[in-house]
Amino acid sequence: MSTRRLILALTDGLRPDAITPAIMPSLHGLAQEFTTAAEARTVRPSATVAALASLATGVAPDSQRLVQPGLGFLPRVSRLRPVARELARCGVAVDVVTAELPSAALPVVWALASAAGVRRLLPAGRRARDTATVAARLVSEPGAGLVFVYLPDCDVAGHDHGWMSAAYLDAAREVDAAVGRLAANVDEALLVVVADHGGGGVIATEHHHPHPVNERIPLVLAGPSVAREHRLEGPISLLDVSATALWWFGAAVPECYEGRPLLEAFAPVLTTEAAAR
Ligand SMILES: [Zn+2]
Repeated sequence: MSTRRLILALTDGLRPDAITPAIMPSLHGLAQEFTTAAEARTVRPSATVAALASLATGVAPDSQRLVQPGLGFLPRVSRLRPVARELARCGVAVDVVTAELPSAALPVVWALASAAGVRRLLPAGRRARDTATVAARLVSEPGAGLVFVYLPDCDVAGHDHGWMSAAYLDAAREVDAAVGRLAANVDEALLVVVADHGGGGVIATEHHHPHPVNERIPLVLAGPSVAREHRLEGPISLLDVSATALWWFGAAVPECYEGRPLLEAFAPVLTTEAAAR
């Protein structure tokens, strides 16, 4: 069984240009100190359900067709190779920690998450930093593997007030406080921070139209084995994150996956070890 840990933080609707030393000092600092992608993009459509389903299954919306939320997902999920199910087969547990959900949404979210192989779903905290505190505690428990943290703040503020508005930047500050708490674990766990989409590219309060500002996403990797002061050049896809998660735990990446492990984000000694496995 793997003793590795991974915290995968999904910052819904966070645009890369919000990550400045003044607004998001923790995330900006991690990006400087470790590895960040210069040009990462999400899938089309640049919408949350499509992107989360892509991240969870390693394939783009054209392949998984999980674009609308709902239990219509379930039969389709069984024909895919979700990250959590691939990891469960290797003895690696996947837990999901989210901001508190409306109670009506919980059964649907849990049905989807458990079908995809998730062990536990924990709605925790109204503020991003409180959700992150629960996730940080969870990842240091025995038996922890991949802890997925969902932080909706920037998306909510973007729809209500516009992307990059004052309220949006306040939400980014709150998300940064959460990242700061998760970063306390980077001595023992790999921390990956990524978003599902940007926003404000065509309409100030929306993000689903094809547009670079809607499709560009931040990607930061931090941890003891991550390359220092490194920038990933060239196109990087959200789908590469799914393949990287499997690779990190030593699981085989299924052939149907449309992304690739981001080996260049890791120090050379680690990638050689993995090749020898
Ligand atoms: Zn949204």
